Amino acid sequence: MALEEKREKRPPVTPMMIEEDAALRNGSRGLPPGPWAEAPGPRPRTTERHIAVHKRLVLGFAVSILALLAVTMIAVLLSVRFEECGAAADGPPRAGGNGSLSGAARQPPGAGQPPGRPEEEARGGEATEEEEEEEEEEEEWQRRRELPPWARPRLPRHLRPLHYNLMLSAFMENFTFSGEVNVQLEVRNASRYIVLHAHRMHIEAVRVAEDKLAGGVRVARTFFYPQTQVFVVVLNRSLEVQRSYNLKIIYNALIENELLGFFRSSYVLHGERRFLGVTQFSPTHARKAFPCFDEPIYKATFKISIRHQATYLSLSNMPVETSVFEEDGWVTDHFSQTPLMSTYYLAWAVCNFTYRETVTKSGVVVRLYARPDAIRRGSGDYALNITRRLIEFYEDYFKVPYSLPKLDLLAVPKHPYAAMENWGLSVFVEQRILLDPSISSILYLLDVTMVIVHELCHQWFGDLVTPVWWEDVWLKEGFAHYFEFVGTDYLYPGWNMEKQRFLTDVLHEVMLLDGLSSSHPVSQEVQQASDIDRVFDWIAYKKGAALIRMLANFMGHSVFQMGLQDYLTIHKYGNAARNDLWNTLSKALKRVGKSVNIQEVMDQWTLQMGYPVITILGNETAENIIVISQERFVYDSDTKPKDPARGDNSYLWQIPLTIAVGNTSHISSEAIIWVSNKSEHHRIPALEDASWLLGNINQTGYFRVNYDIRNWRLLINQLTRNHEVISVSNRAGLIDDAFNLARAGYLPQNIPLEIMKYLSEEKDFLPWHAASRALYPLDKLLDRTENYNIFNEYILRQVASMYLKLGWPTNNLNKSLVQASYQHEELRREVIMLACSFGNKHCHQQAATLISDWISSNRNRIPLNVRDIVYCTGVSLMDEDVWEFIWMKFHSTTAVSEKKILLEALTCSDDRNLLNRLLNLSLNSEVVLDQDAIDVIIHVARNPHGRDLAWKFFREKWKILNARYGEALFMNSKLVSGVTEFLNTEGELREAQLSLQHQPVGQHKDEEQIAKTHLKNFIKSYEGGAAVSFSRAVETVEANVRWQRLYKEELFQWLRKSLTQ
Ligand SMILES: [Zn+2]
Repeated sequence: MALEEKREKRPPVTPMMIEEDAALRNGSRGLPPGPWAEAPGPRPRTTERHIAVHKRLVLGFAVSILALLAVTMIAVLLSVRFEECGAAADGPPRAGGNGSLSGAARQPPGAGQPPGRPEEEARGGEATEEEEEEEEEEEEWQRRRELPPWARPRLPRHLRPLHYNLMLSAFMENFTFSGEVNVQLEVRNASRYIVLHAHRMHIEAVRVAEDKLAGGVRVARTFFYPQTQVFVVVLNRSLEVQRSYNLKIIYNALIENELLGFFRSSYVLHGERRFLGVTQFSPTHARKAFPCFDEPIYKATFKISIRHQATYLSLSNMPVETSVFEEDGWVTDHFSQTPLMSTYYLAWAVCNFTYRETVTKSGVVVRLYARPDAIRRGSGDYALNITRRLIEFYEDYFKVPYSLPKLDLLAVPKHPYAAMENWGLSVFVEQRILLDPSISSILYLLDVTMVIVHELCHQWFGDLVTPVWWEDVWLKEGFAHYFEFVGTDYLYPGWNMEKQRFLTDVLHEVMLLDGLSSSHPVSQEVQQASDIDRVFDWIAYKKGAALIRMLANFMGHSVFQMGLQDYLTIHKYGNAARNDLWNTLSKALKRVGKSVNIQEVMDQWTLQMGYPVITILGNETAENIIVISQERFVYDSDTKPKDPARGDNSYLWQIPLTIAVGNTSHISSEAIIWVSNKSEHHRIPALEDASWLLGNINQTGYFRVNYDIRNWRLLINQLTRNHEVISVSNRAGLIDDAFNLARAGYLPQNIPLEIMKYLSEEKDFLPWHAASRALYPLDKLLDRTENYNIFNEYILRQVASMYLKLGWPTNNLNKSLVQASYQHEELRREVIMLACSFGNKHCHQQAATLISDWISSNRNRIPLNVRDIVYCTGVSLMDEDVWEFIWMKFHSTTAVSEKKILLEALTCSDDRNLLNRLLNLSLNSEVVLDQDAIDVIIHVARNPHGRDLAWKFFREKWKILNARYGEALFMNSKLVSGVTEFLNTEGELREAQLSLQHQPVGQHKDEEQIAKTHLKNFIKSYEGGAAVSFSRAVETVEANVRWQRLYKEELFQWLRKSLTQ
């Protein structure tokens, strides 16, 4: 699954629908009893649906009586096996079978109520036999002091699904579907209970039969237990060990108007709105589409059939085997049986898309399905082409062939994530797969490419070999994220993604997050379904990837690759935990004569949160001896002792530190030192007076390195005199380490600014990119301070000469040039961005001229790669007419990439009225796509003129926002951190100051207190599911405020002095 890196995922529904959904979830409405119902189930939300369901149920009732008679007779006469009776799923849901058929599931009991209780009152308190039995059962569990099997966070282990037959009918005209699932079960321990996941559906009938003997097992009762999202079937007798049974469930549910389970989405073609239904099951939403054992460990085979109107087509993981057409315009597609797989990457879709197709060398048919106009324009061709090449790449790299006969890529208008790796049917949001080469920047092309590389990697890491449980989600996400860079290098060999861009986009990025005390280990324990979404965060993705890269480097890439081949071969079609990986890799190392206990090393990195900072000190008394020490890196040192779990001193890692010695013209080859103690002495040969030390060669390690000031000075000298002695990745690494060490107080504030000075000679993109990213938070810390102009002036001086040297791109890149000039174009873009955002006059004039030319000629001649910069600069400098012009263009353009940057440009205005107008419009789904609203709010928060507006808007609309994005936790936490990350003394503080008028608030300590209190009060009243992101937000704001108090003046003093020299 790929999370949205720069763009937002699509959230659900309008506020009105949200209320209805909430009501449904709470189980506060009831369905009219179905033909088998003893008690109400969930009620549909509209009258239309009510009538439609009712008609179907009446019809269903009639058919079912006939079917009941017929099937009973046939069963008696022919002794046919039960699942054969249920195989022809045409017509509305109906019951099968004999006397073991149970009634419909009752309404889920409210929280805290024992299952099956709610009806008691309605019957006047008269206890039935069944209810007495329930009471006895409960007492029994209490006596045993055990939780009943349905109340435990994980499914009980006594049953295992072997095979599912799933037959669905999708009614797109009223967005409902009905299903019949037959699960073949293996019994491991005798039990009277069948507990499996089912959530937000109406169950009409349940039957259990013993497989071989065709005999029914009587169902005593059934109930939902919503707290754990399970459905429980209680039997009259125990299922016997080693035998196989068949569980049949008939149910119906809604094709939801939100983004999880089986949901719907729409697009407009030739003025007509068309609908499609698609699934998103990861991590815990398959249970909303069919009753199943919804944990990754329960791998089974699946045979799916989908019945739909013939105007639609249906897709699933496997190809269609046969299609059966009916006279009334309906068709049933029967898909081939899947290999063993988990529920979360099962998928289907019902849509009227068209496709283009290609075939790999090994014969895998790859199709890209999208809305017909996009297919006609060829917007899917790029993705299709690289997918074919990437399958060939992975087959060669892993030495394991792609496992299914086909792979469909589906481009949908609405999806909660950038994409989802369903095996054989991967789903992408349109902005992450469709690409019009004539209007796409390199950055956009890169984003599309990497998402595709990511999802394809999952066809092996995730789908073929699946993590045992969600605590190790990084085992699949870390790999897929790491391979984004390796796979892109295969497609574009000159881009050096894994060696270079990985640093700024992954390593530097995640070390920002993981340097907070509120971080968490990459492997994190989860149990409850509601917590599982939480594990899909940047720590799992980016730290996972960074640790894998460190591992690949200390093992050596070819041994690492061999190890992965073994791992995939051994565990294919199964599950694996992190220790399985470590063992396989250790064995691979042993084969080449190296002995490292990988588990021992990696446990420290995956089970401990955070990362170390290594300090290398020269030893003045003993020659050639250096002192290397490690401690946990934390931004806000005030929070260090607060860590509740352990004292900070106990954090230790086994660190593969590579180290080299350099002098003015030469750097030694690197040596690896394993650092495992708090402090160690090491002998370094050839350490002369003027030579410097450099640690973490090419920044392959997941840690920071600090030096004594003397060594920093030598390194700065080296960079100024001849920076090429130090590798590109280490130049970027030195910049990032220095800025962050200073921000956390490990290093004087002037060191990073002094390092920056060499950039005027730097012709490589990566160090500029690292500097630009490291400057960004510093800029946001300072952008509203009195002396901001001093900082601004300093940065402009560093950028000026390179800006002059590179100039502006004159025309759009020829496609064939992209490959060759990627580094150069990205460098130019980076420098122009710095120049324009820090106020270089020429840059501003150039942007204004380009915008004016566009407006007067109505032809957009702005080079693609700098369009976002020009739009934003134009909107911020020029008058309201430009804002209106961009607003109009935003409405009229149809290209997804262009629409996005136009919308973001609107957030660059200095005009607070316009910013407020935009914020208010952002929640109107007709104007701003739901998925884009988060971006609007976050971008307004990044604008110093809008930060307090966004913060205020966020607090006022929190209830609406939380209802919209709350269930897709990743979106929610991105919103929370995006709005709060740069609060320091303003925004919330200014308001607080207003309310505290006449009280002197100039004292730093007071300001700090007020900022904290205000944010904390808000959080206390609203936190809900976003608690984790809120605690991170508080820590970030605290660290911001603290930095201002301790270091701001030091920085300005140095800058003043430096500017007058
Ligand atoms: Zn993924």
